[in-house]
Amino acid sequence: RAKNSSKGQLRFFEPEMDSQVRERRALEMELRGADIEKEFELHFQPIFAVQTGQLRGFEALLRWNSPKRGMVSPAVFIPLAEETGMIHELGRWVVAEACRQAAGWPERLVVAVNVSPVQFRRGDLVTNIGEALARSRLTPTRLEIEVTESVLLADTEANLAILRRIRELGARIALDDFGTGYSSMSYLRRFPFSRLKIDRSFIREIGGSPESLAIVRAIIGLGTSLGIDTTAEGVETVEQLNALRQENCGELQGFLFSPPVASAKVGDIIDAFFERPSQVA
Ligand code: C2E
Ligand code: MG
Ligand code: MG
Ligand code: MG
Repeated sequence: RAKNSSKGQLRFFEPEMDSQVRERRALEMELRGADIEKEFELHFQPIFAVQTGQLRGFEALLRWNSPKRGMVSPAVFIPLAEETGMIHELGRWVVAEACRQAAGWPERLVVAVNVSPVQFRRGDLVTNIGEALARSRLTPTRLEIEVTESVLLADTEANLAILRRIRELGARIALDDFGTGYSSMSYLRRFPFSRLKIDRSFIREIGGSPESLAIVRAIIGLGTSLGIDTTAEGVETVEQLNALRQENCGELQGFLFSPPVASAKVGDIIDAFFERPSQVA
C-alpha cells in the first residue's frame, strides 16, 4: 500500500503503522461513545507546603476507566479528546465535579483543575467555570485553573481576555509545566498568574544536574520577585525535598508524599494531614 502525500512523494505504510492507525481509530470511537458520568472519574493528588508540611489542597487528575481497556492514561486520551472536540464536554464535567467535591473539604483547601488550550477556542469556558462555582458554592478563590504556556502562544489577546474573565470570577490561574514550553517571560508581565508549577523534568534532575538546580533556583527567584507562588511537581525523593526546602520553594506534590488517589481516599488524606503536618516533611 502506498499513498501520495501532499508533497507528491510516495509514502509507504508499514503494516504495523496501519494497525496503529486502526487502533487509534478504535480508541477514538470508544472515547466518543463513552458515558462521561459512568466511565470517567477524578483522582486527587495532595499538595503540601514545603517548609511546614501543611496540606494545602489537591490537584484533580482525570481518569478514564474504559469498560474494554481498564484505566486509560490522560496522556493517551486527552490528545484524542482534544482532536475530536470531546474535551469541551469532558472539561465541563471535570470542573463541575472538582468544585462539587472540593466544596465538601475543609475551607482552607484548594482544588487545582487542568484546562486544555483547546477549551479556550469555544465561547463557553468561562460560563462553565462560573456555573461550577455557583452550583457547588465553592469559595471561588479555592479554585485554581492550571494552564500551560501554550495557551498564550497562539490567540494571545483572546486567551488573555478569557484568563482575565476567569480571574474576575475569583478563581486563580497557575502556569503548569513551567520551563518546558516557550518560557517567554513577557506574559508574566501581562497577566497576574498566581502560581508557577515547576515541571517534573527539572525536579527529577535537581540532585544530579547543576543546570537543573540552577533553573529551579531561577524559577523560584523569579516567582519570589514577582510575588508568584511556586510548586514543584513530581517530588520523589528526600534529596529532592531537601533541595526544594533549601531553595525556598513554596509547595510540592509528588510520589514521595502521595500519588493521585481515588476520591474515596481523599478523606483519609485530609484526616491524616489536615491538622498534623506531613510526616515526611
Ligand atoms: P500535569 O497537570 O502536569 O499533572 C501531573 C502529572 O504528574 C500527573 O499525571 C501526576 O499523576 C504525575 N505525577 C505526580 N507526581 C509524580 C511523581 O512524583 N512522579 C511521577 N513520575 N509522576 C508524578 P497524570 O495524572 O497521568 O496526568 C498527565 C497529564 O494529563 C497532566 O499533567 C495534565 O496535563 C493532563 N490531565 C490530567 N487531567 C486532566 C484534565 O482533567 N484535563 C486536562 N485538560 N488535562 C488533564
Ligand atoms: Mg496540572
Ligand atoms: Mg504539570
Ligand atoms: Mg503536564
